[in-house]
Amino acid sequence: MQHTLPDLQEKLKAWDGCALKKQSNIVLGEGNFEADIIFIGEAPGKKEDELGRPFVGASGKFLDDLIDSIGWCRSQVYISNVVKYRPPENRDPTTEEKNLCMPWLMMEIGIIKPKVIVPLGRHALGNFCTDVSISDVHGIAQKYSDDITIFPLYHPAAALHNGGLRQTLKDDFQKLKNFLDEAGVSPPS
Ligand code: URA
Repeated sequence: MQHTLPDLQEKLKAWDGCALKKQSNIVLGEGNFEADIIFIGEAPGKKEDELGRPFVGASGKFLDDLIDSIGWCRSQVYISNVVKYRPPENRDPTTEEKNLCMPWLMMEIGIIKPKVIVPLGRHALGNFCTDVSISDVHGIAQKYSDDITIFPLYHPAAALHNGGLRQTLKDDFQKLKNFLDEAGVSPPS
């Protein structure tokens, strides 16, 4: 039987399959459960671990501003991560951690049925498009299935650390807006 998102999240809370659970808090996806757009990060950071919410630290603030810049707001999209727990010292998630957590993200996507998936950065992108580099495909729509387009973007944290990427990410958000307008995907009222 098809889960609802709250059912799925209850199951995810009870899941012991990822060793990071021993040392960090779960960070579930949040936002509009019927969103047309899903933004996906790699793994929670310190602030996200403290608050149990995705993208609530500095990169989350920047992401909120970027979403606002195209006339949408955070409550109109869904935001989640590949890995549901913070890796220690904000290290990159391992391939094993990503592979273990990825089925949960795919179930979230299966329930929400978005039209557009926006992987933020190379870790999230690699789970949807293999053999491509974020530096080659950022800001360029990629066909994923008949119903879903992948629109890869740089991770906001990368843009905060590398000033040169900041404008690129802002420009890519305008490209995302153009794509959404052309595809007839508009913010829910
Ligand atoms: N970076 C991520 O990839 N995810 C978050 O939730 C926060 C920062």
